[in-house]
Amino acid sequence: MLLTITTTHRPATDLGYLLGKRPDRVQSFELPSGRAHVFYPEASDARCTAALLLDLDPLDLVRAARRSKTRDELLTHYVNDRPYASSSFTSAAISRVFGAALGGRSRERPELAATAIPLEATLATLPVRGGERFLRELFEPLGYEVEAAREPLDPRFEAWGGSRYYRVTLRATTTLGRLLTHLFVLVPVLDDDKHYWVGDDEVEKLLAKGADWLPDHPRREEITRRYLKRQGALTRRALERLIATESAPIEDEPELDEAEDALETKVSLNERRLAAVLATLRDVGAARVLDLGCGEGRLLRELLRDRRFERVVGLDVSTRALGRAHERLRLETLPPAQRARIELLHGSLTYRDARLAGFDAACAVEVIEHLDPWRLDAFARVVFEHAAPRTVILTTPNAEFNVRFDGLAAGAHRHADHRFEWSREEFGAWAHATAARFGYTVRLIPVGDIDEEVGPPTQMGVFSR
Ligand code: SAH
Repeated sequence: MLLTITTTHRPATDLGYLLGKRPDRVQSFELPSGRAHVFYPEASDARCTAALLLDLDPLDLVRAARRSKTRDELLTHYVNDRPYASSSFTSAAISRVFGAALGGRSRERPELAATAIPLEATLATLPVRGGERFLRELFEPLGYEVEAAREPLDPRFEAWGGSRYYRVTLRATTTLGRLLTHLFVLVPVLDDDKHYWVGDDEVEKLLAKGADWLPDHPRREEITRRYLKRQGALTRRALERLIATESAPIEDEPELDEAEDALETKVSLNERRLAAVLATLRDVGAARVLDLGCGEGRLLRELLRDRRFERVVGLDVSTRALGRAHERLRLETLPPAQRARIELLHGSLTYRDARLAGFDAACAVEVIEHLDPWRLDAFARVVFEHAAPRTVILTTPNAEFNVRFDGLAAGAHRHADHRFEWSREEFGAWAHATAARFGYTVRLIPVGDIDEEVGPPTQMGVFSR
């Protein structure tokens, strides 16, 4: 494993002070599974390069993994990429050999350690799980220019495409401490593995190392998940705390449905919609409430705030949305009495689901237009025939209102995933037919400011039996 770090900041040989390793000789360090060597292939006033070479002993690695049981597993301990690929061993070596620099400290050049200087790091063999795009998604938001060359496979296996190893060069004007920290965290993330058991202290390490860049990183979730070896409980705990350190409170986070939200903000439709649904639920005295297609949990959050809603259950087909809801509602840290009131379910509204029985009210806020039209019938049976709460509240866009949205092409939907959008008449016809079929009555209620010509932006149907 070879990592080189180059600067052109003059005098470039100050890199030796920053790393705490002299440019004029080779130094070696014992590691638990091998040795690290530091040397300088070039060292002039104009340009200086430090190299960290890791010499891992495959036999040491096997000894460290002695607990493995099967022969196959043992074989992979002998024959693997660890000695030459960048991995968590690289991070461990950075920490062991360049510990002060990693922490942003330098005894001899403290100011320089805090100064952004032109830096370039090259990893000779970086395993990239997720491809070049993911590699760029990790480093580019942090201000790096990324150069990546994929290593070929043995010519005999060319048909399989390239290998997962890249030669990667990162360039930025930044502090050495930041560069080392980014490598320390992101190299094992790209490799998607760690050579050691990952527990609670790994969460602390990530939060400490990521404090000033991870909360705002667009791929913070994937970084956290992989850094913690995809352990769900640790990942959730870390994400909750990461998000809590953001400057903006969690409530103001941008939603997934940004395009639609941006379009609709003028009328702050979201809030009007939620307020209309909540008012209806209070009106009918519902205590046990289902939120079908709960998404990231906007309605759930409001329901949780009001204790008259004794039982609150959100269901969604998207595990990603449920994960976001889990985070945003901070389910992990809710007091037990609160936690007992809420549950998130993974499921689809087009399949009969026994878990949906026994509720006073069900809401599906901006959900039906996400269903294929030929599935609406299945949806209606699931909700009105099987779940069959006394009250069902549905909201959906009023397609006629779309002409009032600047920037929405004629005939276009408000959101790419919408399968249809109904006029007032179309929704009315469907709502009345559905109510009649399942023994409900329905009231159609406008939501948002009503435009004389095209009606309200959102339409709501309140079904009762
Ligand atoms: N009600 C939320 C989310 C609306 S977006 C809000 O107002 O913010 C529509 C949601 O419906 C998405 O989260 C999507 O995952 C979910 N959805 C789409 N098809 C579904 C299905 N068949 N079953 C359950 N949920 C579904």
